Amino acid sequence: MRTIEDDAALKILADVIKIPSVNDHELTVAKYLQDLLAKYDISAKIHPITGDRANLVAEIGHGQPVLAVSGHMDVVAAGDLAAWDTDPFTLVEKSGQLFGRGVTDMKAGLVALVVAMINIQQQGGPKHGTIRLLATMGEEVGEAGSAAFYQQGAMQDAAGLLIAEPSTVYGTAAEQKGSCDLKLTSKGKAVHSSTPERGYNALVPLIKLLNEANDYFETIPAGEMGPVRFNIDVLNGGDQVNSLPDLATALVNVRTIPEYDNDQVTQKLADLIAAYNQQGADIKMTAIMNESPIATTADNRLVKLVQAIGKPYAGRDVVVASSPGITDASNLAKRQPADFPFAVYGPGNMTQHQVNESLPKQMFYDFIAIYQQLFTRFLAE
Ligand SMILES: [Zn+2]
Repeated sequence: MRTIEDDAALKILADVIKIPSVNDHELTVAKYLQDLLAKYDISAKIHPITGDRANLVAEIGHGQPVLAVSGHMDVVAAGDLAAWDTDPFTLVEKSGQLFGRGVTDMKAGLVALVVAMINIQQQGGPKHGTIRLLATMGEEVGEAGSAAFYQQGAMQDAAGLLIAEPSTVYGTAAEQKGSCDLKLTSKGKAVHSSTPERGYNALVPLIKLLNEANDYFETIPAGEMGPVRFNIDVLNGGDQVNSLPDLATALVNVRTIPEYDNDQVTQKLADLIAAYNQQGADIKMTAIMNESPIATTADNRLVKLVQAIGKPYAGRDVVVASSPGITDASNLAKRQPADFPFAVYGPGNMTQHQVNESLPKQMFYDFIAIYQQLFTRFLAE
């Protein structure tokens, strides 16, 4: 029985970091993992999504219960290369720290899931039940990979879900805010600025509406995960200073909570738009992205196990906080009951999306060991 030791796991992580899967090319990561799993007699299926992009699914064990474990294969862009001390797509180790794009978010988590599954399999597999790896594409932008898994029914028989994203350092999360990206388009009538009464300025009602919406959402009482956040991120309109704009657009991102969810946000905006349109505006709204908030109770069974198993590694009680970002859980944990065993729990040190992204090497090794215990105990209990 060959298990993967820490040094070999580090080599696998280096191989995966080397694949520049920046919002694309997840297929290369999927093929690498498929080949790796095949060496240990674990068959994995690649689900093509589009072009060079794909999901990967692999299982060990059989029957119920099914524990779904998930990580994404894409990373965000490296950003300013000159600001990096090392090549972002080469795993570099310096005094116990690992550096590279995706080492925290979340290739270390992904590789730790895969190595833990291989090691459990090499030690005879789960006694009963199934561990199902859902490796996704496109998590960082749009979450199309997890949406496809959800639609294919990959979560239908799942008794629990672990997302290997970094939460806080050795901490975990059982909930995350929702997020929606909306585009508002305002149409007007262009005329020369000397005779504005003959035209209609597309920017004016849009700016008023955005201000009114911004003020309104600030009055929503904060929920357990904090306040609703209404972010006006992009505003465009007009071509030149002596002509009224006939078109104006805005992009807004709203972070939602269970107490005030995506449907309530879009309904409120639709009501505002209807009121402005009654007064002569011509504003339309389209949803670009729509991810629901997820809230399971912090004492669900998976979080309890995480707390018990993770405590000696953390050197303190495992903190249960809100997930700082949106994860694939917004698709994968959709429509689950409040007591559904769900946790975001993975190696990370809060350097995601930054230059010189890093991770303590020991934390990577710890999570391989943690996952082996966590998966085995979840299926055994
Ligand atoms: Zn991530």
